[in-house]
Amino acid sequence: MPADARHVLIVGAGVTGLLTAIRCALAGHRVTVLDRGAVPNPMSSSFDQHRTIRALDPGDRAATHRVAMAHRLWLELEALLGTRLYRRVGVVTAWPAGEVDAVAAIGAEVGLSVELVEPDTLPHMRFPAGWTGVLEHDAGVLLADRVLTLAARWLDAHALVTVRPRREIVAVDADAGQVVLADGERMGADLILIAAGPWSRELVDLPMVLHRQAMVYLRPPEELARWWEDAPSAGRIGTDGRSWLLPPGDGTLLKVSSSALCREVDSVADRASRPDPAGTSWVDQVVASILTDPDRYPVHGVKECHYLVDAETGGASLVRLGPVVWARAASGGDGFRTAPLIAAQIAETVMRSSPNWREYA
Ligand SMILES: Cc1cc2nc3c(=O)[nH]c(=O)nc-3n(C[C@H](O)[C@H](O)[C@H](O)COP(=O)(O)OP(=O)(O)OC[C@H]3O[C@@H](n4cnc5c(N)ncnc54)[C@H](O)[C@@H]3O)c2cc1C
Repeated sequence: MPADARHVLIVGAGVTGLLTAIRCALAGHRVTVLDRGAVPNPMSSSFDQHRTIRALDPGDRAATHRVAMAHRLWLELEALLGTRLYRRVGVVTAWPAGEVDAVAAIGAEVGLSVELVEPDTLPHMRFPAGWTGVLEHDAGVLLADRVLTLAARWLDAHALVTVRPRREIVAVDADAGQVVLADGERMGADLILIAAGPWSRELVDLPMVLHRQAMVYLRPPEELARWWEDAPSAGRIGTDGRSWLLPPGDGTLLKVSSSALCREVDSVADRASRPDPAGTSWVDQVVASILTDPDRYPVHGVKECHYLVDAETGGASLVRLGPVVWARAASGGDGFRTAPLIAAQIAETVMRSSPNWREYA
């Protein structure tokens, strides 16, 4: 262990916590990861078959640059863990005819490899009438639960890392730089990261809004399995341009959802708000608005997932709560793909907190 090694304490073993732990351990720091459930925890919001990674955000060039950097970090992680984590099938987003050229131009301007695609080249997906697709090539699907499982395994085998499942934090004392466990134990460290996903609001007092969204898992017909294996992920699709899909492949199912299924809720436990409390017809309606031949896709399951967004910016954020306490305060709809950036930011903060920091500067 280097002389300037620090102790990093991470609360939450979702993608944020696990990737931060890896990054800090690689830098030679001692790391402790606590989670109230198993590690990885199937109840975490990260635990799902897949998550989309794409960079292009025409309204936010800085964010586009940031996620393009995350793309490189994902490839490095894949090399470290030695298994395929990332299906680089591309992501297509649909835009009205009057906007699509400008969107593609922004993509090219910031250095992304993009191409216009006509909806008839993707005949199994529905686009809003008259809209065209912008295909981002260096983008696609992260195999989310595989990422978590391999990351947890890597951490388990690392001499500098202690992973402690079934350890619940009940309070954070930001001034004292300590967390309080359910059994009353207090733990401190040189840096503490609260990465409790949508449950962060229960530990950390910040203006955040909690969203719940339902996702539908479908089994594609056998005769289309080959087509779907090569299909890109897609956003802003469906007849109203509010839907998205993640294609099946590498053993995963086809997953669809729509922003029309997103609800603001008070807590993860709050069971009051459903997409359509009156019945289940919303599943059929959503699937029919996204796929051209919906009856050929049996529904395998429906799952709900939660994320926090900053009440003001609508985005995700990393905040400093006290001298050594940080929180990934909002988990955001882009929280999976940006996790390596948070990990890098925390690792750099740890390095700067070293008494020998001047040696690096
Ligand atoms: C429907 C939906 C679709 C999404 N799609 C995408 C996408 O395509 N691309 C993308 O980048 N992002 C997407 N996201 C967002 C992304 O999934 C999340 O932002 C990300 O997974 C959050 O990871 P996390 O590690 O911060 O939190 P989590 O994965 O939720 O992990 C938090 C961990 O903290 C633990 N914990 C909680 N409270 C405590 C406590 N008191 N003590 C100890 N442990 C505790 C939990 O057990 C859990 O394991 C989507 C989100 C939703 C809801």
